[in-house]
Amino acid sequence: MKKKISRRNFVKYNSVAGLGTAAGLQITGDVFNIGKNSSSTPAILGGTPSMGHDWPDWPIWKPQIDEERVIEVIRSGVWSRAAVVKEFEEKWAETLGVKRCLTVVNGTNALNAALAQYEIGWGDEVLVTPYTFIASVSCILFNGAIPVFVDVDPETFQMDPAKIEEKITSNTAAILPVHILGLPCDMDPIMKIAKKHKLKVIEDACQGWLAEYDNKKLGTIGDAGCFSFQNSKNLPMGEGGAIVSNDDEFMDRCTSFHNYGNPYGSVSGEVGAGTIRIGTKLRITEYQAAIGLAQLKRLEDQTELRSKNAELLKGKIKDVPGILPYRLYDKTNRAAFHLFPFRYKEEEFKGLSRSKFLEALRAEGVPCSSGYRPLNKMPYLENAFNSKFYKKFYPSERLDYDSYAEVNECPLNDQLCDEAVWFTQNLLLGSKEDMNNIANAIEKIYKNAEKIK
Ligand SMILES: *Cc1c(COP(=O)(O)O)cnc(C)c1O
Repeated sequence: MKKKISRRNFVKYNSVAGLGTAAGLQITGDVFNIGKNSSSTPAILGGTPSMGHDWPDWPIWKPQIDEERVIEVIRSGVWSRAAVVKEFEEKWAETLGVKRCLTVVNGTNALNAALAQYEIGWGDEVLVTPYTFIASVSCILFNGAIPVFVDVDPETFQMDPAKIEEKITSNTAAILPVHILGLPCDMDPIMKIAKKHKLKVIEDACQGWLAEYDNKKLGTIGDAGCFSFQNSKNLPMGEGGAIVSNDDEFMDRCTSFHNYGNPYGSVSGEVGAGTIRIGTKLRITEYQAAIGLAQLKRLEDQTELRSKNAELLKGKIKDVPGILPYRLYDKTNRAAFHLFPFRYKEEEFKGLSRSKFLEALRAEGVPCSSGYRPLNKMPYLENAFNSKFYKKFYPSERLDYDSYAEVNECPLNDQLCDEAVWFTQNLLLGSKEDMNNIANAIEKIYKNAEKIK
């Protein structure tokens, strides 16, 4: 059904419609009196899809602008870590307003390394949200610690700061706030609790590039912040990640760790004499950094556009009964919107199930997904507890999975996982008209929920 157009035509369309600036093409009006498409037949029932074209491709690559540096690097034959990686690190640190940045192979290993270099491991507990990507939790197990799940605030999709303190025990070593979907956690209360209980704070900002809370960039508020530059992320280089911090000694340890444990800065030893502490190899290549530098040039404008479009779209859909878009905490200056989330209440849609709603939305030409499943109740946890590894280091009462599962129940997150709907970040790089059309599509489905069901 969906009318396919070529990438070239899309680019043409998008530059004609601009970012919604060509008055002739702009549709005005609110979602409930738009009239154009919303009264027509939903695409899933044979009507015309709301979206007449494809979405912006991801990642964006413009050969004329982006390739010169990459080709230069490739032709130089210097492919292993050198000046271009350093340049990217300096630029990323400067962009965030943080003292140091170290790139590593991916966000997963940024988290693994950050925990390890604060010596968070065997015996420790780390507080984390169940509403996240697996790497936010696997880094805790990877270091031999035990994840303790803090339930979410379903309105914000983030770890609820009001539920943190009740989970703190004498074993708690750190809080790992995840700015999930690119929406900032409420860092003020989190930092206050951490200070009071002397806990480290390692921010998983792997979806939080250039988002700001209380005029500080995400990843720079806690003791350390971790980023991902994987292909789907807002700042993509294929694979890649970074650790940022103002803590020089910690960054020296991370730098040493990512290079076999060789001496670096305050991690001193005779340079050239070899490894002096536990380390591994997590270095990225020069051509990855060159790709990252090209992408970094457009990140600010893209972040601003996503933020504006998200606000626009939120305004248009928030009054549709059963559609509950995200709420941002008061101190949020800007979100990164790696994903645009809302909760879907099927009872307001005549009982139309979420999966059928998603199907109808996709038929309208709007890619969407149902998002994460509860990470606090998946088999990897019990399997870790049953591993030789864990049994060697923990007394059996700490590995009693049934009581662990009970303490770690997160009923609000269970419900959130059943209700969430996501749009990916590239949809928010569309035009104002695109946002109108998404809103139209949702309204069309709302009006025809009974028939679609
Ligand atoms: C992507 C992501 C990671 C892991 O990053 P990779 O670069 O894919 O290893 C960690 N945490 C969150 C929240 C992520 O979205």
